[in-house]
Amino acid sequence: MSRPKRVLLLNPTYHRPLMRDTFHPTSKSALYIWHPLDLLIQSGYLSGFDVRIHDGVVDNSRASLERTLAEFAPDAVLSLVAFPSLTSDLEILEGIKKRYGSTIFAVGDVTYGEREAFLARHEFLDGILADYTSRGFAQYLRGEPIRNAIWRDGDRICTESTHEPMDYATPRHDLLDLSAYYLPYWKPPFGSVYSSHGCPAKCRFCVAPGWGRPRFRDTEAVLDEVGFLYHRGVRKVFFRDGSFNQSPPRMARLLEGIAARYPGMRLTTWFKPKPLDAPMAKLMQAAGFEFVHIGVETGSPRFLRELGKDFALEEVEPGIDLLHRNGVKVVGHFMVGLPGERDEDYRLTLRYLSRTRLDIVSFSAFEYSYGIKMRNEGGPARPDHPDTVTRRRLYHLMARFYARPDRWPRIWFFEDLAHVAASVPRIARYAADLRLYPRFGEIA
Ligand code: SF4
Repeated sequence: MSRPKRVLLLNPTYHRPLMRDTFHPTSKSALYIWHPLDLLIQSGYLSGFDVRIHDGVVDNSRASLERTLAEFAPDAVLSLVAFPSLTSDLEILEGIKKRYGSTIFAVGDVTYGEREAFLARHEFLDGILADYTSRGFAQYLRGEPIRNAIWRDGDRICTESTHEPMDYATPRHDLLDLSAYYLPYWKPPFGSVYSSHGCPAKCRFCVAPGWGRPRFRDTEAVLDEVGFLYHRGVRKVFFRDGSFNQSPPRMARLLEGIAARYPGMRLTTWFKPKPLDAPMAKLMQAAGFEFVHIGVETGSPRFLRELGKDFALEEVEPGIDLLHRNGVKVVGHFMVGLPGERDEDYRLTLRYLSRTRLDIVSFSAFEYSYGIKMRNEGGPARPDHPDTVTRRRLYHLMARFYARPDRWPRIWFFEDLAHVAASVPRIARYAADLRLYPRFGEIA
């Protein structure tokens, strides 16, 4: 019997932590490092193969990657790539092709932006996935008809873009070192689970609107995946959906299943202030929701509308109150440096931060990623402000929120003192080294 093909799912080593998954490359990793979701999803399509995952974010040594490659000698590699680290990513992949002759596929924001042209330019690549939920890589390896990928067939470049059901088997969480991933408020281990792909909102700075109509996994498959983690002693799950509450009936089925089968589970997710009502908030509490993350982005109602958000600023605080009454804390995310943001919008955000009932806030510098609507609209190719202003604003916004002493005790949201202590050097390193990545596409 022939041996199964060896498949390496790779998040390439880089000289600093860079999470590349879900087409959202982000360097903001002082307080969180989460799992490479795309690679987990792909592992669910690869049953029958000998699969390994190497995550260069948590194992950031080139020597360690070389050891993995030498030991494993992969027949095939699916690698994340991202525009901030593209030169380095491609150099690593080309090296693997030269030394091991592996089939190489790439997935990431850059491939999404260029598709066939990207593949044509990089001859050592055999294919790319323009959708990280596609089973095209597994189909290529199995010699099956490929439904959703761009791949090389001799001199031809072929493209298919049919969305198939997201019916992957339980992803191989067991291939990751779960002790290496953390969130601001959770120490390891936790698991990343994906239950839906896409979002009905049309935010102009986000890649999700370009993915077409949202698609959902079968609820039982999601519950099985939660169970897979639960039975390995993992009691915390981050639902990484872009908009977990976009389908209330489906969400209710999922939460009822979790409450009934996995008592003591603790949950968090990306959420929106609507749709949300009292029965849904109660179900969330029963299933174990501790936190939700809401992308508020700005304290300016005008700018929020311009960004394409599908809720209004005045809907945020009532949503927070309802979640609070059901024991769920709310993390608010804000973007800094978005094209089109006026100084008065920034001042409104400062004011909003003084009065909001959000529990924790997080600020990110806008990145001009491939696939976002702003880029496709041919919007400004540069930020409205230089990076020095963006950086100063990040600090000012953070300082404004925590200027109120009643917010200081929130440090106890962190699970224990050891987690707080581990976070301090990470925050210090991040604050001292807040060099923004090339956010406006310095592409190799
Ligand atoms: S709500 Fe979130 S996931 Fe949906 S389009 Fe906007 S930023 Fe993207």
